[in-house]
Amino acid sequence: MSIDFGTDIYEEPIVAKTFLQEDAQEGSLRPKTLKEYIGQEKAKGNLAVFIAAAKMRGESLDHVLLHGPPGLGKTTLAGIIAQEMGVNIRITSGPAIEKAGDLAALLTNLNENDILFVDEIHRLNRSVEEILYPAMEDYALDIIVGKGPSANSIRLDLPHFTLIGATTRSGQLSAPLRDRFGVTLRLELYTPEELSEIITRSAGILNVEIDRDGALELARRSRGTPRIANRMLRRVRDFADVKGNGIITRAMADEALLALEIDHLGLDPVDHRMLHAIIENYGGGPVGLETLAATIGEEAVTLEDVYEPYLMQLGFLKRTPRGRCVTHKAYEHLGLSVPKSLMGDAEQLTIE
Ligand code: ADP
Repeated sequence: MSIDFGTDIYEEPIVAKTFLQEDAQEGSLRPKTLKEYIGQEKAKGNLAVFIAAAKMRGESLDHVLLHGPPGLGKTTLAGIIAQEMGVNIRITSGPAIEKAGDLAALLTNLNENDILFVDEIHRLNRSVEEILYPAMEDYALDIIVGKGPSANSIRLDLPHFTLIGATTRSGQLSAPLRDRFGVTLRLELYTPEELSEIITRSAGILNVEIDRDGALELARRSRGTPRIANRMLRRVRDFADVKGNGIITRAMADEALLALEIDHLGLDPVDHRMLHAIIENYGGGPVGLETLAATIGEEAVTLEDVYEPYLMQLGFLKRTPRGRCVTHKAYEHLGLSVPKSLMGDAEQLTIE
């Protein structure tokens, strides 16, 4: 039997931001309480205070906006907030609410203090957004009854609910909507130590044997993102089952990830194409995002949401008003000689 563990056995790249078939087990891996939720200490600390205060007063929690790259735990956190508040949660997304009437139906079916979670809230359409303003502010729905000169606006009272909005791009939210959130929490990329804890926890739930160094190796290569860490764990488990003795050690993780074309920092072929394109076609930058996306045949939003946050965290890529530029660190990682113009940066950073 020959099994090819190259990337082509999996239809989607490991960094895919959409929900994949292989993520079906994600539900069982989701932490249910704030205690189980690893990392994001700042966001968790603030939330714990807001939740305790709202519970003490017997009120609904203020509206919460969660923002950060895909797979960092926004949906998970919304579920935890509902659990900790002891209320129900309805989950929907910006593009799924097509008409004002869809939102009205969702809102009127909520109970007192319930949570409405709207993923990708930056993709709500304007007419829906306008219904949301009085709903968030005054817990009321303004409905127009009748047509023409005899049309009348009536106000319907809504239960005191909490809206939790999640977005990968808070900059695209309209100012009036952003202002109506009492709490805004930014989720950060996770450290390798936090991801290693997440991987060890997930391995326990999935009954996968992994040692400390194996977990840390996966963690270092998961781009700061729990969803990617969990996917990696499952894909590497397949590899360890077939090619090894089922135990994920550092060597096994390394062998599997190399076969999956994930380099030792977690960069995949798209990252490599992106960096090479900026260097080879645009002299290291600056190059506009759309141009870069067209050059490598990827969507601009995917590059911006999925690839850039990690490349910027590594210090490989800079966003400037004139476009994207690579840094000396990217040249070094790719094994290319650093151009003279960037030598200054390199020395400055070493001195610092
Ligand atoms: P988002 O909504 O930001 O795209 P999700 O909440 O769907 O991300 O998280 C993706 C997966 O990552 C979840 O299934 C969960 O198992 C895992 N995860 C996310 N954050 C954490 C965390 N802080 N601790 C443990 N697991 C996490």
